[in-house]
Amino acid sequence: YTGRTSGAQIIEKIKKLTVKDFQAIPVVVDRSSSVYDAIVTMFLEDVGTLFVVDQNTVLSGVLSRKDLLRASIGNKDLHTLPVDIIMTRMPNITICYKDDTIYNVAKSLIEKQIDAVPVVRESEHGLEVIGRFTKTNFTRAIVDLMNNDMF
Ligand code: ADP
Repeated sequence: YTGRTSGAQIIEKIKKLTVKDFQAIPVVVDRSSSVYDAIVTMFLEDVGTLFVVDQNTVLSGVLSRKDLLRASIGNKDLHTLPVDIIMTRMPNITICYKDDTIYNVAKSLIEKQIDAVPVVRESEHGLEVIGRFTKTNFTRAIVDLMNNDMF
């Protein structure tokens, strides 16, 4: 036995990686927040996607960079414009769970042409946001594997 891993075994290992080991901390704003505050949060937290939640951290919407840019064009007062009006809302949000494989989640990012999905869990109030999984997290998983001695 040479201790080497075959190509097929490497692919099988990659396919088994799950979201919980690569997810990031979610950055959320309340649904009553203004577009102005969401823009400030996006810059301060250095993320490209914000999740909009209600009082119980239940998922209600998603805000991307382009959503905020679009809202900023031709809107006089971003301080009084609530994110609720411009966000992509439930039930049209692509989500994932911590035990999903990063392979399946990456396929849905590509298929839906989005950069990130919220990691959620079912609670008595609805889908609670517990994480964030992005194209960057997937890229990091692959780079980690290449740095690692698993091959
Ligand atoms: P950007 O707008 O910066 O290109 P995305 O490609 O992620 O970023 O977003 C494209 C559109 O898809 C936006 O309108 C955004 O609200 C929406 N979107 C982003 N993430 C999701 C998601 N997880 N589920 C549903 N819609 C999403």
